[in-house]
Amino acid sequence: ATPTALMVGTGRGAQMGILIKGPEVLEHTKNIDTVVLDKTGTVTTGKMTLLNVHVAEGESEAEVLRLAGALEDASEHPIAQAIAAGARSKVGALPAPEDFANVEGLGVQGVVDGHAVLVGRPKLLAEWSQHLPVELERAMEQAQARGETAVAVGYDGKARAVLTVADQVKETSAEAIERLRGLGLTPILLTGDNETVARAVAAQVGITEVIAEVLPADKVDVVKQLQGEGKKVAMVGDGVNDAAALAQADLGLAMGTGTDVAIEASDLTLVRGDLRAAVDAIRLARRTLGTIK
Ligand code: ADP
Ligand code: MG
Repeated sequence: ATPTALMVGTGRGAQMGILIKGPEVLEHTKNIDTVVLDKTGTVTTGKMTLLNVHVAEGESEAEVLRLAGALEDASEHPIAQAIAAGARSKVGALPAPEDFANVEGLGVQGVVDGHAVLVGRPKLLAEWSQHLPVELERAMEQAQARGETAVAVGYDGKARAVLTVADQVKETSAEAIERLRGLGLTPILLTGDNETVARAVAAQVGITEVIAEVLPADKVDVVKQLQGEGKKVAMVGDGVNDAAALAQADLGLAMGTGTDVAIEASDLTLVRGDLRAAVDAIRLARRTLGTIK
């Protein structure tokens, strides 16, 4: 395509809410055949709310909420924000945690009022030999089957509760996936979340290929592997944990509603955070490069 055509295409993109880093980006966009989509914040709104508190026998729901809420208040993760807000509305002001640490892709740990607290995947608790009693395991499985995300809470050496939070699929996601397929592209859902939850969300939007339970640092390897199979990969994401994968992809698309790190790592920004704009971008590239050769 001529430089002028690329300039026009870039300008047209801006009008459609698609910010394109440079004219050459359209060239990469044209050949994409696979679209890897992050789940939380990309396919879903990323705005979670606390739904249920399941406590083990003899445990206090208020104490679980106070300790877990206080710890999560120090994290920016959407799950953490939902738990902190839900806890505050039920038990009031939350104490400040000490020795807070984020365990990437697993959860958070810290000390609240002298109690050593863990909130996250059962795997995180298991690292400290805290195992869920059967009734909590069952509550967790049932929540996940409904597409909710369930996290475990442990303190003072024992697993005590399961909290469930839910995120909602964006209204426009299913339509965007259908239109991607219409262009002959294969969508793949990629997430650090549990397989059952990922499958439930995928089913809601019409995605059949799911790669779940991927640690943030491993998302980039998934993209590399697909490229190794000869695929031309677009990655759509919003989070800090998506940045390396966005940079590795043949085309990185960031949600404008996402983090600055994701936006910087990408070739394209979808200003409104609407997945349909990803489809528009690919159509725009094909049109720009197809008509004027
Ligand atoms: P995604 O890839 O969907 O954006 P992450 O990689 O950020 O998800 O997190 C993966 C999983 O780790 C979450 O589904 C959750 O079970 C657990 N997790 C991560 N951070 C937290 C936290 N602050 N509180 C509770 N659980 C967490
Ligand atoms: Mg995300």
